[in-house]
Amino acid sequence: MATKPSITIDPSKKQPPTRDHPEPSSLKQHLPPAKSTTSHPTKTTENNASLFFVGTATTILEWEGLRLMTDPNFLHAGDHVHLGPGVQGTRQTNPAVDLHDLPNIDLVLLSHYHADHFDQEVEASLRRDLPIITTPHAHKHLANKGHGESFTAVHAVDAWENMFVNVNAGTTSGAKPGIHVTGMPGKHVGDGLLAKANDILGAVPPTNGWMLELGYSDSSNVNFECGYRIYISGDTLYVSDLEKIPEMYTHAGKPIDLMLIHLGGTTIPGPHMPLLMVTMDAKQGLQLVKLIQPELTIPIHYDDYDVFMSPLADFKAEMTKAGFDDKVVYLDRGDQFEFEVRGGKST
Ligand SMILES: [Zn+2]
Repeated sequence: MATKPSITIDPSKKQPPTRDHPEPSSLKQHLPPAKSTTSHPTKTTENNASLFFVGTATTILEWEGLRLMTDPNFLHAGDHVHLGPGVQGTRQTNPAVDLHDLPNIDLVLLSHYHADHFDQEVEASLRRDLPIITTPHAHKHLANKGHGESFTAVHAVDAWENMFVNVNAGTTSGAKPGIHVTGMPGKHVGDGLLAKANDILGAVPPTNGWMLELGYSDSSNVNFECGYRIYISGDTLYVSDLEKIPEMYTHAGKPIDLMLIHLGGTTIPGPHMPLLMVTMDAKQGLQLVKLIQPELTIPIHYDDYDVFMSPLADFKAEMTKAGFDDKVVYLDRGDQFEFEVRGGKST
């Protein structure tokens, strides 16, 4: 469990997310207003953080002035993504905000290097010094593009490796916000898959999930306490590797407040030839909910491409049948979820 060097983010710098951004004065100050805002369905919380759902697996987390973006994908309906040899997807939806209308972004968390998570427009446009935490595979691609094209602040974190992100937020209490990021295992290709699928495996890059522990250190910066724990599944199937997660967290006194689950039952090469499912469908999603036992689940990555073949309605039905309706929040693109990161005031 290697610990990678920590980084410090200063949200007050307000840098545009894209390198071609015309001038600082035109930089948006905020995300667009949410279509609707939800918080915990049954608990009262003092919310100080939010998660805005852009679409696919793209979410924007705002907390203590920091803006963290996951799996940036800003293509529009009708746009194509190349997902590997002979594998193409067509976007069915629009993102809730356009790439060039984003406010400043401080950090990107990328589960894997696949075009429905880091599309061609994003790759061409993002500012090169934007910090990106991702897999070793994606790091190799992004940091070695050459000729001023390489991303210069990419941090490789593999499964079970971790790193710490300090946030310079100037809190009055002396408590210092930070995020402990740990790579979680993920597999696009299931246990015991037949070898005949090998010819399309070239389309399937290695993927991570993430555990994000948002919390505060005391003013000496020594004791970090997690105040909200988010597990992001990444584009994985339900595989036995995931069973270590509840062992390390849920059943080890580290409960998971929120799970962002990538659903969709992505099936490649495509709807015309559905051979190999590479992300969870509704049934596997429910299986993962039962395994991880998060306080709340929010499905993402469920209907944005024609290769996503398991509709959200199927997952809703599974959750209802299992009696989990008060354990799940459904977001449409443009909706946001608000939550409380505990501990900011007490130190
Ligand atoms: Zn995907």
